[in-house]
Amino acid sequence: MNRVRILVLNAALGPLDYRVPEGMVVEYGSVVMAPLGPRQIIGIVWEKERLEAGDVPDSKLRPLLEALPVPPLQQPLRRLIEWTADYYCAALASVARMTLSSSAALKGGSTLTEYRLTGDLPQRMTPQRAAAIDSLAGEQATIRELADISGVSDGVLRGLVGAGVIEPVTVHLDRPYPAADPSFAIPKLSPDQNKAADCLVTAMRDGAFRPFLLDGVTGSGKTECYFEAIAEALKSKRQTLVMLPEIALTQNFLRRFEHRFGTPPVLWHSSLKQAERRRAWRAIASGEAQVVVGARSALFLPYADLGLIIVDEAHEVSFKQDEGVRYNARDVAVIRARFEGIPVVLASATPALESMQLADSGVYERIELPDRFGGASLPDISVINLCKEAPARGHWLAPRLVTEMEARLERGEQSLLFLNRRGYAPLTLCRHCGYRFQCPNCSAWLVEHRFSQRLACHHCSHELPVPDACPECATGDCLVACGPGVERIADEVAEVLPKARIALVTSDTLNTPDKVSAFVAAAEEGGIDVIVGTQLVTKGYHFPELTLVGVVDADLGLEGGDLRAGERTYQQIAQVAGRAGRGEKHGEVLIQTRHPEAAVITALAAGDRDAFYEAETRARRDAGAPPFGRWAAIIVSSENENEARDAARAIGGSRPAHPDIAILGPAPAPLALLRGRYRYRLLINARRSAQVQRVIRDWLGPLHFPRSIRVSVDIDPYSFV
Ligand code: ADP
Ligand code: ZN
Repeated sequence: MNRVRILVLNAALGPLDYRVPEGMVVEYGSVVMAPLGPRQIIGIVWEKERLEAGDVPDSKLRPLLEALPVPPLQQPLRRLIEWTADYYCAALASVARMTLSSSAALKGGSTLTEYRLTGDLPQRMTPQRAAAIDSLAGEQATIRELADISGVSDGVLRGLVGAGVIEPVTVHLDRPYPAADPSFAIPKLSPDQNKAADCLVTAMRDGAFRPFLLDGVTGSGKTECYFEAIAEALKSKRQTLVMLPEIALTQNFLRRFEHRFGTPPVLWHSSLKQAERRRAWRAIASGEAQVVVGARSALFLPYADLGLIIVDEAHEVSFKQDEGVRYNARDVAVIRARFEGIPVVLASATPALESMQLADSGVYERIELPDRFGGASLPDISVINLCKEAPARGHWLAPRLVTEMEARLERGEQSLLFLNRRGYAPLTLCRHCGYRFQCPNCSAWLVEHRFSQRLACHHCSHELPVPDACPECATGDCLVACGPGVERIADEVAEVLPKARIALVTSDTLNTPDKVSAFVAAAEEGGIDVIVGTQLVTKGYHFPELTLVGVVDADLGLEGGDLRAGERTYQQIAQVAGRAGRGEKHGEVLIQTRHPEAAVITALAAGDRDAFYEAETRARRDAGAPPFGRWAAIIVSSENENEARDAARAIGGSRPAHPDIAILGPAPAPLALLRGRYRYRLLINARRSAQVQRVIRDWLGPLHFPRSIRVSVDIDPYSFV
């Protein structure tokens, strides 16, 4: 090749052509450095016929500067990048950037300089220096990362390097990862598990595209089953990608993996340090990383020889990315498996309706694990009607729930209370004048956090200390907290069960891997009597002494009326209920609600999953909602409200007329102000057969707006705010 087309990693530029200089060897997928004016840009050599670019005569072509020392992106990955950009109406460059997501890895060289404290103190101490030294104990990272950790500037840190307080350390980046051993600790599987595992192992051996729905009740041992498929991948020297919905779940997974295979897998997520990121990326691209476990960003990495993809807790909404490229990692995982020609396993106890439907229609092969492992039984679920069994005034736990918790405490067993609301109270107001604390940047109330004694917005970073007096009427001692968050529930537990040892589990309290490990260890050793937590405790954990689960407010998720509210409530409660009675002792679940007649609640109480899916299927079909119809959203935002509204109206004014597509709006989004931007929204509801993406592209393509306006397209949206 002496003339090549480059997909440039900058969405504003579009593809460009270059000449390959004498002596440089490139192929499709090669990552190259090219000149652009006085700058250097990174790009990927792409098939010419698949990308349109401007016509430049051979004589005007500039030569490429360098082929970077990384393996070329393989064809299946190039097709995946194209598919994702096309399906989600995103820029190719933005998708490709998710593949080349470690700039350090693209450069040659095998070392990186990190910095750490020497233990010496500076001769001249300033408050900033003291703060930096305080916060950097035990840390080792690049200057940039240390600046983020400590909150002081690069300059202050460089000053400390000069003063001998911080020293450079050379890190070797191509240290090999220890090898996982498929026979390290082979479990004895139950007959059901054996059948499931065999099925997956056979698919691995066949090495063709086969999508599976591993549909097993909580505690059935889904992980043990797909571990056998991983063992097969290890034996055949092919790579496995395991996707988990949240980093918080990885600690637990790493431990189980190490028990089974003798060494932890390679970890990938967005908050890895630069050195770890680079090392993992290169091992993935070289094929040395055998098993990669990560959040959704692990999906687009350039695996040298991917043989298997597992999506665990596949129903989780966090697989949907809601900024940048708005894609659903669960769905793209299946597409990647198709392009790679390999099996993919979606594992869940509460599959999404979309996945159920694909399994029902035979597109996915369903593997069922109907029973818990080791003879454990599913818990009994009953409902507390809050209208009849009201909690005491100013309290949130019904007497029956408290009585059951007392009984657990006496028997030395554990209880778990679930409320999906962080903080102490979701709203604070002034008793005197009615003033409510609202975020100045978002249409949202500020949430009180007693732990940190602050009022915080859960959408942006705005927060302030809880004031002594009302900012409006200046009355002192007049602020009241309205409604409960988990912190308030924990206070109530401390009041009614003064002897109980309580653990509060939220993203505020369990925000590092070490804290997660400490919590798990304490819970397993019986050092905790009552766990109070948000959705963070609903999945993954296995505590044999946990025999009671209380759902504090089952109605919370049903408010707001979004398309998936019923499904999400069902999944959350079924998952948290699944934490009860996983050992030898039987479990019990109490659901507090004001709407015991709601379809979700009756299905949960009757343990009748089919009834729930049937009712939900009917409702979705009637509404033309997924999987029977399709939704898309167009969100227009600007810091200027008029500008946002005018742009939304201009888009609305040029809406296409199409028999299979209904377009609603524009209207202010439910979150009309978010992080300082005013938001308007159009919703598109289409028949399955409609070419929604093409319609949207033809519609928005000719419209041009100033840079201050952002127009984003959300295909198959999960969030309707
Ligand atoms: P699920 O993911 O389906 O909820 P897990 O895979 O977490 O279930 O399994 C539940 C518990 O049972 C775990 O502690 C797991 O180690 C244990 N377990 C499952 N299958 C086996 C087996 N075949 N041998 C030993 N322990 C098992
Ligand atoms: Zn805010």
